[in-house]
Amino acid sequence: MSDTVPSDPPAAAPAAAGKRAAKTSVKTAAKADAKGSAASPKTALQLALEKLGLRRDIDLALHLPLRYEDETRITRLRDAREGDLIQIEARVMDCEVAYRPRRQLVVKVDDGSDSCTLRFFNFYPSQQKALAVGTRIRARGEVKGGFLGWTMLHPSCKPARGDLPTALTPIYPTVAGLGQYYLRQAVLGGLARAELSDTFAPGDLMELNPHALWTLRQALQFLHHPTPDVSLATLQDHSHPAWQRLKAEELLAQQLSQLQSRRLRATLRAPQLVEVPGGTLHQRLLDALPFPLTAAQQRVGREIAADMARALPMHRLLQGDVGAGKTVVAALAAAVCIDAGWQCALMAPTEILAEQHFRKLIGWLEPLGICTAWLTGTQKTKQRRAMLEMVESGAAQLVVGTHAVIQEKVHFKNLALAIIDEQHRFGVAQRLALRNKLQHDAMEPHMLMMTATPIPRTLAMSYYADLDVSTLDELPPGRTAIVTKVVNETRRAEVVQRIRAQIALGRQIYWVCPLIEESEALDLSNATETHAELAAALQGSAADGQPPVQVGLLHSRLPADEKKAVMAAFVQGQMAVLVSTTVIEVGVDVPNASLMVIEHAERFGLSQLHQLRGRVGRGAAASACVLLYSVGETGRLSESARERLRAMAETSDGFEIARRDLEIRGPGEFLGARQSGDAMLRFANLATDTALLEWARQEAPRMLDHHAHLAEKHVQRWLGTRADYLKA
Ligand code: ADP
Ligand code: MG
Repeated sequence: MSDTVPSDPPAAAPAAAGKRAAKTSVKTAAKADAKGSAASPKTALQLALEKLGLRRDIDLALHLPLRYEDETRITRLRDAREGDLIQIEARVMDCEVAYRPRRQLVVKVDDGSDSCTLRFFNFYPSQQKALAVGTRIRARGEVKGGFLGWTMLHPSCKPARGDLPTALTPIYPTVAGLGQYYLRQAVLGGLARAELSDTFAPGDLMELNPHALWTLRQALQFLHHPTPDVSLATLQDHSHPAWQRLKAEELLAQQLSQLQSRRLRATLRAPQLVEVPGGTLHQRLLDALPFPLTAAQQRVGREIAADMARALPMHRLLQGDVGAGKTVVAALAAAVCIDAGWQCALMAPTEILAEQHFRKLIGWLEPLGICTAWLTGTQKTKQRRAMLEMVESGAAQLVVGTHAVIQEKVHFKNLALAIIDEQHRFGVAQRLALRNKLQHDAMEPHMLMMTATPIPRTLAMSYYADLDVSTLDELPPGRTAIVTKVVNETRRAEVVQRIRAQIALGRQIYWVCPLIEESEALDLSNATETHAELAAALQGSAADGQPPVQVGLLHSRLPADEKKAVMAAFVQGQMAVLVSTTVIEVGVDVPNASLMVIEHAERFGLSQLHQLRGRVGRGAAASACVLLYSVGETGRLSESARERLRAMAETSDGFEIARRDLEIRGPGEFLGARQSGDAMLRFANLATDTALLEWARQEAPRMLDHHAHLAEKHVQRWLGTRADYLKA
């Protein structure tokens, strides 16, 4: 390794001034470090490393290169080809600052076979000094041919001293102000000090991959210093045996931690909610429902009831496509809980959704004598106080609301079942807060989480391995398929025509816009404008003898009671068209709505589009969804936008949509940062490493049962302090 401080290639460097300052500070810090002035608080280097999450030696050792640079070879200029990334060794023939067309350092070098001009637009006096005439240097960069011979722009240069390195030079992910040189030193130090004994034998992986006979130490040492003969492609796509070993390690750590938390949960206790036979609320609710349950609802209901009848806290995810009928399932679970003499809470991510649940549940349960409390952030103090009292005294058997449900001031008398709708909208902390709402004999409430975004199998096996999953794989009868059309914005007039035809048939229409006010940056169409435009265009569209067409507008900045009034008018059918922003995204239920138009569909995420589309096709009428897209200034859609729209047109199966969404976005985006926290896999890829994932899944229980101390060591090594967080 070179003992000089190489200048970083400009691409990796922040703005010159900032870089200079930051670099100096890290340098000083590193010196201070070396002298062991330990009394000082954290050095700049430590702070920068901490920003990268690198606290322990093992963290440093596991900080793997993004890519490599090959400094092991010298290429003669005569043998270079246009655009090659090469390293040359040459003598400086000329070095001067030119001012045209802009200030730059121009250095002429010659390697005996040919000459080359090196150009630097940002440079330090020290660099200029290091490139004095007569010096032999090694310069690495992309060569371009031209009228005046070879040139390199911002090559990285160092004095041509000593032997060439024998390993590829690693380039690490870093943060502003922390140069590769210091980071490399830190990583090497960590690698040398870290305890790297194997927690599982290389042979354990053999069946899976006979080439994977690498120990952890070998794998890490190799990945930090690969020999130049390695195929760079196998390092890049992580298929190299060293990568296989690391991915196996990482997946195993994740599986172990999930399994640990599952077993930990098995030691906790929860109220046993046993169904009371005969004449119960549960039975009366079933009798009162205007429809029979689907087979899937019955099965899922039994799964939930069986969980709640045990003294272990339930931790179940109910997944079912939009419109699959999750609310009834939740209400029936609540009824079992109330029958057993305990309280139930239902939390939804938005006020509109919570309110809809509230109305629906009240409609079902109040006639049966159940008292329901309603909690939201926008409530008047007086009303809120009354609600809180009902919750605390136990007068309210069911509590419905938004995040307000988990606030500190809310004291339940005896909460035994917590239901979270659209659970992916909530974070780990909120789930934990709900779990702590039962202050009774160190018990925890049962948790039922619901989602309309089904989780692809690989994710269910990894991130959600700690959850039991129930699936509503059947829609209530009488649903009609939704025809989805992808239409260019230029054909808007035809779409309006189609709306007229639907109105004449007595149907209702949703028109969804992405933003409420025009944003200069995005030039999105304005819901208010669209509303005015539609209202004007639809004058006189009603069937003969009908009152004029009403076009409503709903957006998040409307006062709460206006929102309510608009929603109510649409639900009751007094309003034909509802123009709205995405506030209607989840949960709204109007069976007579048969057409949904989504404007600027190219800007929506796939699962969001799917959720929106699920608002139609709930009644008997044939339904359609029109995805209006606009190509904007670029004149074409981005690749991923095209894929999203294509997926929407091709399928309406929520599972297939989720699979494609995962494919397009990758698990990090798919799960959302809040869900995954720091727990995202760094090295393994769930879409492609399914075999390794299977292996880890089978290995984890074996290891935990037979080599508990190794399992613990493995989890600590890989997850460290994050391990506890993962157990939430
Ligand atoms: P989601 O799963 O998207 O939350 P909902 O619970 O809102 O779906 O249900 C969608 C609609 O289907 C509601 O109008 C609901 O009353 C109705 N529904 C639910 N179950 C059935 C069923 N078994 N038969 C007929 N309609 C049902
Ligand atoms: Mg719902």
